Amino acid sequence: MGFNTALLHPPKAKETCGATLTPIYQVSAFEHSSAEQLEKVFHNQSGGFAYTRISNPTVDAFEKKIAYIEKGIGAVACSSGMAAVTMALLNILESGDEIIASAGLFGGTIDLFRDLEAFGIRTKFVAHITAEALAPLLTEQTRAVFCEIIGNPALDVVDVKRVADLLHRHHIPLIADSTTATPYLVHAFDLGADIVVHSSSKYINGGGNAISGVIVDNGSFHWNEARYRGFAEYRKYGKFAYLAKLRNGLWRNMGACLSPMNAFLNLVGMETLGLRMERLCSNALALAEFLEHDGRVTVNYPALASSSYAALVQSQFGGRGGAILTLRTGSKEKAFRFVDRLRYAAIATNIGDVRTLVIHPSSTIYAHSGTEQKEAAGVYDDLIRVSVGIEDAQDLIADFKQALDHIEEE
Ligand SMILES: *Cc1c(COP(=O)(O)O)cnc(C)c1O
Repeated sequence: MGFNTALLHPPKAKETCGATLTPIYQVSAFEHSSAEQLEKVFHNQSGGFAYTRISNPTVDAFEKKIAYIEKGIGAVACSSGMAAVTMALLNILESGDEIIASAGLFGGTIDLFRDLEAFGIRTKFVAHITAEALAPLLTEQTRAVFCEIIGNPALDVVDVKRVADLLHRHHIPLIADSTTATPYLVHAFDLGADIVVHSSSKYINGGGNAISGVIVDNGSFHWNEARYRGFAEYRKYGKFAYLAKLRNGLWRNMGACLSPMNAFLNLVGMETLGLRMERLCSNALALAEFLEHDGRVTVNYPALASSSYAALVQSQFGGRGGAILTLRTGSKEKAFRFVDRLRYAAIATNIGDVRTLVIHPSSTIYAHSGTEQKEAAGVYDDLIRVSVGIEDAQDLIADFKQALDHIEEE
């Protein structure tokens, strides 16, 4: 089955009324025929639902669909991408543990790693996640490596297979944020990633109408109980141990659940993930090539032939570079003038919408970071991030061209 067919025909629960989409089960609780029946549901001895913080049919349908598309064995949906990142890590970590992460991560994730220090969890940052950079940093305390397959906004691309191969020799899992890559560009599990997380607020939803996140597991990592102590009581779940621990533990007790309405919006949005990504990638490449050829700003887009990641984009993503590009204008003033001049690009802090979005990350998403931290994340005072939309490429190019014509004005 091809990617687009799979998006429309996932295995799904029987729908009694014949609804073509899983309806929105907008309820808090589910009624049962007897006290004994509800007891069984609570003890996982019977299928069924009890309370929407723990499970809900609409949310369940979204979890099953993303797990299927990502080729995982299951998924847990969360209230936001940040909740997904947090829960994916805290499910395996405890005080004294260490994470290694890329310095070019999404700003919120960098801030989270700082917050985790208060709980005794330390993060070592590397400029770019490669097997060579990681090898000397792995220690007895390293419990996970966290990366974004395409860094947002650094746009560095991780060679997932090479990194996963190295980590697996040291029994360390690779947790990959695939928000910007999406399963359209890469099936991260096929390359060795152990846990995949998404801010599904972005390309999975696709329409910019709901905040959500999701954690997907493929069940292949062995959570050695000597190193991951919380896993002893979940051994009985076999390859489902990680998901069972998450669902029965921290995720449910922190109340990080996704609302049924937002799960529904994601289910609808996901149906066009393949179509959207195809268009987004071709628009982004056309715009990047135009800007590079024009020469008035420097453009970073991993699928450009001139990018240092071009070969990896070819081999790992089949040549598709995703929908984000960044440009450097020469100064903050020029960056602001350029952004303000664009007609079609909305000035907004999001990515993965159908409409083109533009932002000056240094003064917004990275406002809380110091200069050194910003530059490690590839954020400069003159940098603009563009999340390309599905508008007609010639209109986008014409719009960017007219904005460039005004960039030198006072
Ligand atoms: C947006 C984003 C997040 C955070 O997701 P929210 O849904 O905004 O909480 C995490 N990782 C990446 C790569 C993102 O782009």
